[in-house]
Amino acid sequence: MDKAERLTSALAEVGERNTQPRQAIAKAIAAMGETGEAFPVERLIGELKSEKSGVGRATVFRTVDRLVRLKVLDRIDFADGERWYRLCDTDEHHHHLTCRVCHRVVELELCLPRTKIEAIEQRERFTIEDHEISLFGLCEKCSLKALEK
Ligand SMILES: [Zn+2]
Ligand SMILES: [Zn+2]
Ligand SMILES: [Zn+2]
Repeated sequence: MDKAERLTSALAEVGERNTQPRQAIAKAIAAMGETGEAFPVERLIGELKSEKSGVGRATVFRTVDRLVRLKVLDRIDFADGERWYRLCDTDEHHHHLTCRVCHRVVELELCLPRTKIEAIEQRERFTIEDHEISLFGLCEKCSLKALEK
């Protein structure tokens, strides 16, 4: 399934009773997510407003939350405290490398070794259900810009 298909089928699963807002949100996310750029919810709301879709803020927030839970949208917490969202290329488990200045996001296949997680579970007597790893810093463009100053 490609990104747009995953989005559509997930929104059908979510089962919003009113299909019109659902379609408007799907269209806006697909359009913004196509480039692989991350976006804040406010930008999505602005996009929907300019389309005169009549979709309310609460509906947008609720839908985005559900899409995150369904792992269709990834929530990206940047080093500067901003929380954005991204339609990633894969629905497989992965992590992100982010630029703290321009908010560029790179998908990473790296993960913690399973044996390490199991060792932590045993030592701390925890059942570990999930984890997040964030790598953040400056991308090449932003590093060069920082040098110019
Ligand atoms: Zn991702
Ligand atoms: Zn950057
Ligand atoms: Zn992982």
